[in-house]
Amino acid sequence: MDPFFAAAIFAFGLCFGSFLNVCIYRLPRDKSVVKPRSACPNCGDQIPLYHNVPVLSWLILRGRCRACKQPISPRYLLVELLTGLLFVACYSHFGLSLAMLKCSVLGYLLLGLIFTDVEMKLLPDAMTLTGLLLGIAFSLVVPVNDLASRIMPGLVSVSLRQQIPWRLWSLSDSLLGAAVGASFLYGAAAIYLRARGVEGMGFGDVKLMAMIGAFLGTRLTVLTIFAASLTGSLFGLSTVLAVWIKRTRRIVARGATPGEAHRRAWRSARLALRYYEMPFGVFLGGMALVAFIFGNQFLHWYWRAL
Ligand SMILES: [Zn+2]
Repeated sequence: MDPFFAAAIFAFGLCFGSFLNVCIYRLPRDKSVVKPRSACPNCGDQIPLYHNVPVLSWLILRGRCRACKQPISPRYLLVELLTGLLFVACYSHFGLSLAMLKCSVLGYLLLGLIFTDVEMKLLPDAMTLTGLLLGIAFSLVVPVNDLASRIMPGLVSVSLRQQIPWRLWSLSDSLLGAAVGASFLYGAAAIYLRARGVEGMGFGDVKLMAMIGAFLGTRLTVLTIFAASLTGSLFGLSTVLAVWIKRTRRIVARGATPGEAHRRAWRSARLALRYYEMPFGVFLGGMALVAFIFGNQFLHWYWRAL
């Protein structure tokens, strides 16, 4: 890894992260991301260009609007830094290549989607559907997974005629991944709706999974769904457990017997489980990125271990 390149890519990532912040705030609110210039959401004060420098501006203003002194969300700083780190991580893992570009684009979209899902419980079409098209387009220049490159070896010095099957294979893997991902989530959402009577997953999750499928191909898409369900369930269970423990302590402190406290705390925990809305997009997005970078290694290790 060239340190000069890495630093330049990091700075580049900070600027892209700055734009991503604008998208995270404006896209779920149906506002244009181009016009008007950035302004404080509280007082409407326009942010001058010299205060639009990623990270530095936030630090200099100590996270407050220069006009009304209202705090500016630390999310601005976080997204900028994460985008910078993401780009450098892609560079260090893939080198300067089209695969690096593909990984950066995927990670960039996922970062935006994770944060809009957390803040607004929304996954904007402008990100998911654009991502779906980009994922399909990328399958024509970067093999979707190692299956294609294993079946069509020596891709570099072959004639165009021999290249066609590889691209076709990769494209169909991408389309199939999108279809499998979307239908899996669609089925899960339908089952969830029938079982609990509330809408747990929206159509946004289905589109998100179509996008992930187009980038990852079938096998890694299935891996992503499994990993996201697992981490999501663990997160949900530990939330319920945390509610239970906290509640028990509070009830005991009020003078109830431990047995009585456990029972009453269990009732609150069950209620928490009933109304808990898991931001599933966050887990899908996070696991998709992990699967994209480490998924094939993991599957190889897994087949060998079997
Ligand atoms: Zn302000």
